[in-house]
Amino acid sequence: MVRKILELGDEALRKTCKPMKTYDLRLWLLLRDMAETMYKAEGVGLAAPQVGILRRVVVIDVGDDHGLIELVNPEIIATEGEQAGSEGCLSVPGRRGYVVRPNKVTVRAQDRKGKKIEITGEGLLARALCHEIDHLDGIIYVDKMDHEIFDDDEEEAASKEEK
Ligand SMILES: [Zn+2]
Repeated sequence: MVRKILELGDEALRKTCKPMKTYDLRLWLLLRDMAETMYKAEGVGLAAPQVGILRRVVVIDVGDDHGLIELVNPEIIATEGEQAGSEGCLSVPGRRGYVVRPNKVTVRAQDRKGKKIEITGEGLLARALCHEIDHLDGIIYVDKMDHEIFDDDEEEAASKEEK
């Protein structure tokens, strides 16, 4: 079931989420709904608070070999390097910002059955891991961005060239 994505300004997005302690059908249905919601919205990640559930659960799919990644109670345990680039969020539609993130991150989490897992991501996956885990502590990328990126900037430049 596709759920409604909350948008910037909604208080639920600013809460600290609680750890997930039970690995049962309720969690699996949440994970399924979150993946469906993310794919429908054409996002690369979604955190539970974005659908109003204040639990430490995220899904990510950046279109690489990892496929769909489900993380329960994720924690960043190591970071390396730096990347600067454009970032958006399904809860902040139509906007993008320039955000500096680590280039490589290692995350410890649990899977849907409570088994301990570890995942290391670079580039876009590292960015998505940082972004989604931030959501679990009520942090949205706009809090961290250096500046907003406007599509108009590029369109204007292009239209000037045409003239
Ligand atoms: Zn987001």
